[in-house]
Amino acid sequence: MNADLHCHSTISDGQLAPADVARRAHAGGVTLWALTDHDEVRGQAQARQAAEDLGMRYLGGVEISVTWASRTVHIVGLNIDPECSTLIDGLARTRNGRAARAEAIGERLAALGIPDAYEGALRYVSNPDMISRTHFARDLVERGYAASAQEVFSRYLGDGKPGNVTHRWAKLADAVHWIQAAGGEAVIAHPGRYAYTPVEFDALFGEFIDLGGKAIEVITGSHTPDQYREYAEVAKRFGFEASRGSDFHAVEEGRVDLGSLPPLPSSLTPVWNRWL
Ligand code: AMP
Ligand code: MN
Ligand code: MN
Ligand code: MN
Repeated sequence: MNADLHCHSTISDGQLAPADVARRAHAGGVTLWALTDHDEVRGQAQARQAAEDLGMRYLGGVEISVTWASRTVHIVGLNIDPECSTLIDGLARTRNGRAARAEAIGERLAALGIPDAYEGALRYVSNPDMISRTHFARDLVERGYAASAQEVFSRYLGDGKPGNVTHRWAKLADAVHWIQAAGGEAVIAHPGRYAYTPVEFDALFGEFIDLGGKAIEVITGSHTPDQYREYAEVAKRFGFEASRGSDFHAVEEGRVDLGSLPPLPSSLTPVWNRWL
């Protein structure tokens, strides 16, 4: 089983259309796939159709932006029904404010000597509801203001950097409830990326468990190999099932391609076992 249960398309901040992500996943050897666009399920029907035409198993997916203890946490929903109105309405509210935030980011970047960034970012946006920092990063790299997306985030757009505009995303309890209402399981995405203290992490995992959350990502393109080991231990300590996903966004971006990550450690229970 080559499960890749986290990636993005042009419906959010990826650069391939859902059917093209499906083809790339299949070419990469993926046999169980989920497209998990940020705060959007509009690519789900196309993704499922393309996956099934290629002979891959498909799970409905989404990655919801959450604010917890003043920081952003991403919650992946797997096996969701993309027609669920509770989920669709919640995601629409979560997307609200992205356009105004993007204009404010453009103003901050202009003050830092980078003109027309909002207009530049829009050139990369397919879904105007879903303008994100990734679109700004592509424009800044393309116009030579940074050598890589990584540099854009470390200099301008990362949390706490001068070009970033913080945004209040969904509440953790709401995101988990929308996923559950849609028949899915909530998964804490790439826990190694959050700058919480150990006490905060314990509180986050505890609250997530109290809400019915059962899984975290362990093997993800957003973790280093050391973090694979660290979060395998966390999964065992908290009794979490484990997920695996590349977090693929675009061919020239990121460390990991679809289907190419190491397998989950055999001591962990894959979250996808419940759907096989
Ligand atoms: P937003 O939802 O607009 O806050 O944008 C978040 C997106 O920016 C994430 O989904 C990633 O695709 C991207 N991102 C965040 N931090 C980084 C980073 N350090 N390097 C590269 N991409 C990042
Ligand atoms: Mn992204
Ligand atoms: Mn994420
Ligand atoms: Mn992602």
